[in-house]
Amino acid sequence: MKITVLGSGSAFSSSSRFNSCYFVKAAGNKFLIDCGSDALRALQNVNVDLFSIQKVFITHMHADHCGGLPAVLTAMHVLGRKAPIEVYVPFNQVEFTKVWFANQFIYNERMTFEISLLPIHSGDMRLGNNIELEFIQTKHLEKYLEYARKFGVSPVSFSVSVREGDKSFFFSSDLGSLKEAKAHVRDSVALVEATHPLLDEIAAFAAESRKNLFFTHIPQELENGGEWAEELRTKFGIQELNMVHDGQVLTV
Ligand SMILES: [Zn+2]
Ligand SMILES: [Zn+2]
Repeated sequence: MKITVLGSGSAFSSSSRFNSCYFVKAAGNKFLIDCGSDALRALQNVNVDLFSIQKVFITHMHADHCGGLPAVLTAMHVLGRKAPIEVYVPFNQVEFTKVWFANQFIYNERMTFEISLLPIHSGDMRLGNNIELEFIQTKHLEKYLEYARKFGVSPVSFSVSVREGDKSFFFSSDLGSLKEAKAHVRDSVALVEATHPLLDEIAAFAAESRKNLFFTHIPQELENGGEWAEELRTKFGIQELNMVHDGQVLTV
């Protein structure tokens, strides 16, 4: 299994980091996890063949994780894609996504290829014979849910673990706390976000310095010279975080 980091940035992409987007190749399956707002450029940046993408999994409906979907699907249409594609979104966002797409003239009657919009639920999902995905609902921004409910919506967010035989890859996506990722840092490779957790949680994770643990969703504050990086050094004694960068390929 190979994972190409297309976007390792936080909600604010920078000149060196695009929004959340990962291209996974595993046992003949090729899919994206997340498709952040600048995903089309991120895909072009490392020459991913748009026609090769069979599925897209969206961990939650924040723009830095899903905002690039319309542009990527439209680019596939303009280029004349024929093969169908499956787009998975959190279970209670399927209808919203259908309307969101339709407002951008993205519907099967018009496109050169068929889009199946499908729900992500907590639990396991098989891809063919050899790959199993496990989706784990997280507490990302749960504290703001009461406001969302006033609009009749209750957005949810998922982490995902991809298993091929005894190898596994975990992506936390956005979390309420790093405690939610704890069980999964045992996976062969674990990619954990570094924007929402508290700095002492990040320091505690980093201090365990497992080779298989990488940080992603990197805010400017953690970059060289950033205030959080400085605090990690001075207060917690962490000289360097094991951060991924855009274009990096992780082999599991
Ligand atoms: Zn995010
Ligand atoms: Zn988010």
